[in-house]
Amino acid sequence: MSLLVTGSIGIDTVKTPYGVSKDCLGGSAVYFSMAASLFSPVRFIGVVGSDCPFDLAEVFAGKNVDLTGLEVRPQSKTFRWAGTYSDDLDDRTTDYVELNVLAEAPPKVPDQFKNSKFVFLANTAPALQHELLEQVDKPVFVAADTMNCWIEDHLADLEALLKKIDCLTINEDEARMLADDQNLTRAAQKMLRMGPGLVVIKKGASGSMMCNADGDTFILPAYPATDVKDPTGAGDCFAGGFMGYLAKNARTDFETLKTAVAYGTVVSSFSIADFSLSGLTLTKRNSVDKRLRTLRNITRF
Ligand code: AMP
Repeated sequence: MSLLVTGSIGIDTVKTPYGVSKDCLGGSAVYFSMAASLFSPVRFIGVVGSDCPFDLAEVFAGKNVDLTGLEVRPQSKTFRWAGTYSDDLDDRTTDYVELNVLAEAPPKVPDQFKNSKFVFLANTAPALQHELLEQVDKPVFVAADTMNCWIEDHLADLEALLKKIDCLTINEDEARMLADDQNLTRAAQKMLRMGPGLVVIKKGASGSMMCNADGDTFILPAYPATDVKDPTGAGDCFAGGFMGYLAKNARTDFETLKTAVAYGTVVSSFSIADFSLSGLTLTKRNSVDKRLRTLRNITRF
């Protein structure tokens, strides 16, 4: 089934103990699309300014990502973000965020994308996520991601969005912040009461936890990756693997959702091996499936 994504396209500067990547390609929708296209065609919606140095058509060449929804605004500037990671790569501080085009009106959903059935609202301003979603006719499964700055400064918009979506993907610190609860299991229950029937909490190197409103829970460790240079975009790649697998199979029962979490886990393990999109660009589906089999073997008992 068709899969639509909207989110950020970023000019990122990333510092990790393994090096610095200045003004490289990033953004939640970009990472998501690279990951999801391993499973399913992706319909991409995003906006950049005239200063954007990247040719997304080249980036996604041969990848089954439809860029009809990419808008270039001549008078605007592209979103920029910079972050620095701790020595163990577990913590990240944001050095700066320049919202630029993300603070403007959302891009339009092209007519041929309006019938999309699976929708992922990757991290961007919740008001933009909301407006984008309203332009889609009858989606069957809508998931959204968010982050600390939106929880802190745009909570009312985010709360309104949560009532309209089926699934929230969120990292553990942001889950604690949104639910105002340090206990992750309780935080998941509180977020379920805010609207979505499904919550997936990403815990970085500690794996992930998925809970639904019927009381089902699934917990999976991260893939034991030995090659880790830059965790930026891992959450978006997780979501890409997760949604790509669901859209491909056109199912959202709990067993399918569990496999989708496992694919999300494995895809993000490729992304973190190198800076920007380099870890994932050359990854092929058969390498993903091989890691999935390994993950299955080491978690079965
Ligand atoms: P992740 O590591 O999964 O949190 O994703 C990092 C990516 O999200 C980077 O490539 C950034 O360009 C992008 N990003 C960072 N902050 C924001 C924000 N406030 N809104 C949208 N995208 C963001």
